[in-house]
Amino acid sequence: MLVVPERLIADLVSPEDAFAAVEAVFAAMASGAAYNFPVVREALGEGRQYGFKSGLDRSGGLLGVKSGGYFPGNAGRGIPNHQSTVFLFDPDSGQLRATVGGNLLTALRTAAASAISIGRLARPDAKVLGMVGAGHQSAFQMRAAARVRTFERVVGWNYHPEMLPRLADTAAELGLPFEAVDLAGLGAQADVIITVTSSTAPSLMDTHVRPGTHLACMGTDTRGKQEVEAALFARARVFTDEVAQSVAIGEAQHAVAAGLIAEADITPIGAVINGTAPGRRADDEITLFDGTGVGLQDLAAAEVAVQRAVERGLASEVAL
Ligand code: NAD
Repeated sequence: MLVVPERLIADLVSPEDAFAAVEAVFAAMASGAAYNFPVVREALGEGRQYGFKSGLDRSGGLLGVKSGGYFPGNAGRGIPNHQSTVFLFDPDSGQLRATVGGNLLTALRTAAASAISIGRLARPDAKVLGMVGAGHQSAFQMRAAARVRTFERVVGWNYHPEMLPRLADTAAELGLPFEAVDLAGLGAQADVIITVTSSTAPSLMDTHVRPGTHLACMGTDTRGKQEVEAALFARARVFTDEVAQSVAIGEAQHAVAAGLIAEADITPIGAVINGTAPGRRADDEITLFDGTGVGLQDLAAAEVAVQRAVERGLASEVAL
């Protein structure tokens, strides 16, 4: 078995690598060559979440599982709230091939998913990026978005205003002006809005968002979380990584439960990538990507790390 530790990932996997790997696996999912297994996710108490995301990609030769979760007390320990490890298996023999640190990979593959949606669905002339959320993921999200559109400025809101400097600092790193605004101001100005919070009640309401906006809703990955009002969700044309997961644990859970949309109204982004479903159809359409985070994203990103580590002689071999 090969071991690729967390500390090597930053040098092995670039945001561009993650983008390409995630786009390929979304395409494979939509064509039926790859599928995710049901997610296991358990509340451990005190806000801690732990679970498994797994899947098989026949075309990419991937079988494996990401084990990990969300541990809100970690911020006080100086480590990310998300903790995860990816295990890759040989799809033919079932033998464990590799153990890969999954923390940075999670942020990269999540930001890649959102950027793929922005690249495919946002208006080409989008100039203002709106950020709802200023946690660990937000910086990765902003950087990835800036690779697929030429934004001129960033506006942001966060439930905990003391975290806003992360957005200001990331915008500065990208050479973009940043302004902290209220949610009405954010919706009135932004062409693209990324929501990436752990909220359990909607922040962004239907009245906040104007026609033509693209939303990448990335925070809701568990039953009970919610970032946008169900009426806003239902007003949009909705895309997702995986429809079953979107309805079960994604942002769609609320609009579906309220009877405002049906599962059949949601399009896998892989179908847009494959050219079998249309993306944005009009400048005034609201498009929304419900990014729930699928196991195959983790496996695809981990596979890049393993390949690079092997090429550079950096993977440690451990006998099982
Ligand atoms: P974090 O703990 O670093 O930050 C949490 C964010 O949520 C902060 O902006 C915080 O202010 C905000 N928040 C907390 N309580 C809130 C409330 N009641 N109302 C509004 N906002 C609130 O977390 P993170 O690592 O940045 O992750 C953010 C979210 O993204 C989490 O829900 C996480 O589970 C999810 N996530 C999703 C994927 C995916 O693939 N879709 C991947 C990784 C993380």
